[in-house]
Amino acid sequence: MQTLESLQVWCKKKNLPNYRAKQIYQAITKNLISNWSEALELPKDWHEILNKEIPISTLRVKKILPDEGAINRAPTDANTIKIAFQTHDDLIIETVLMRHDRDRNTVCVSTQVGCAMNCAFCATGKLGFTRNLSAEEIVDQVLEFARLLNATRCRTPGYSPMSDIGIMPSKVTNIVFMGMGEPFLNYENVIEAIKILNDKDGFNLGHRHMTISTSGIVPGILKFADEDIQTNLAISLHASNNKLRSKLMPVNKKYPLEKLLPAVSLYMKKTNRKVFFEYILFAGINDSRESTEELVALMKTYFPNQMQLVHINLIGYNPIGSGAPLPTGLEIEKFESPSKETIKKVADTLQKNSILVTIRYHFGGEINAACGQLGSK
Ligand code: SF4
Repeated sequence: MQTLESLQVWCKKKNLPNYRAKQIYQAITKNLISNWSEALELPKDWHEILNKEIPISTLRVKKILPDEGAINRAPTDANTIKIAFQTHDDLIIETVLMRHDRDRNTVCVSTQVGCAMNCAFCATGKLGFTRNLSAEEIVDQVLEFARLLNATRCRTPGYSPMSDIGIMPSKVTNIVFMGMGEPFLNYENVIEAIKILNDKDGFNLGHRHMTISTSGIVPGILKFADEDIQTNLAISLHASNNKLRSKLMPVNKKYPLEKLLPAVSLYMKKTNRKVFFEYILFAGINDSRESTEELVALMKTYFPNQMQLVHINLIGYNPIGSGAPLPTGLEIEKFESPSKETIKKVADTLQKNSILVTIRYHFGGEINAACGQLGSK
C-alpha cells in the first residue's frame, strides 16, 4: 500500500481531484481489494494505470503454509497460517496469523529483515540483521492476511453477509509486533505503521488491539512512554537474574535488569497501562521452584506499588530447526520445553503471589510459525 500523503501527491501529478486519493487509499485499506478491477467506485478506465503505477502491496506472497489448497478447502481448520513474503529487493520475511478461538485473529508481524539481537533460543537471531522494514511493508503484512480472511469468509459454506453464526471471525482483530526483528530498533517506521493501521478512515484497528514486544531496548521503552497512543507493551524477559538473561539475550549486557525494569516502571507510571512480560520456560534452566521465586522477588522489588500492572505470559520453548546452539555455562544438553505440569506449577506459584499470569499455548509449531521460530526454514 501507499500512504494517503503519497497518493495525494500522485493524484496531483495526474491532475486528479484530491478526494480520489482517499478513495484509492480506502480501496486498499478498508475495502481490502486484491485487484484494481474490484475498485468499483473508481472509473473503469483508471484500472489499468492503477495496476501499473499503484501496486496494492509492497510485498509479494512467496509461500503460504499450510498450502493454499488446504486453506481453500477448510478455512476453519487451519488455526495457524504462515506467509513468507518477498520484498522488492528479494529478501524474505515471515508473518503468522493465529486464529485463537471464535473471536480472535491475531497477526504476528515482522519489523525487520533478520534481527541483530541474537537471542540464543531464536531462529531469526541466527540470520543476523539485514535491514529495517518500511511502515508500508509492515502494514502490508497485515493487509495480506485481512484480504485472506475476507476471501476465506466468503468461501465458507453457510456464509451469509447478514449472519456470522457458526463461522470464525473474518477480520484481523489483533496485531502483535513480535515477528522477525526488534521493533524498537525500527522505532519510527513501527509507530507510523501503528498510526496507519489505526486510521479511522482506513484499516481502523484500535490501538489497544496492538502490542509491541521488545527484547528490552530501554531508550525505546522511555520514548514509547511519551507517545500519545494506547498500544500495549510487552517485554521479553525470560530470566530472573542478569547472569542467565545475558546468556539467553545478549541485549541484557547493554540494558541489564537494573536499567530495564526501572524504565518499565516509569512507563507504567506515565501511562498507567499493564505491561506483559513474555517468559519462555526452558527445561532445567528457568523452570525450578527457586527460579520462580526469584522471578516473584524481582517483580516485587521493581514494581512494589504497581503489581496490578504486571502480567506474565508463560510460554513453553518451541524447538527450532536442528536445535539452537547452547550458550556456554548452561548445564543442559539442549533447549527443551518443560512438561505441561511444570509450566502449570510455575503459573500456580506466580498466582499464589498475586501475579497475573497466562499460559500461552503453542501455535504453529508444525509449520515453524511459533514464537522464536520465524526464519528457521
Ligand atoms: S527473540 Fe526477537 S529480539 Fe531476540 S533475536 Fe529473535 S527476533 Fe530478535
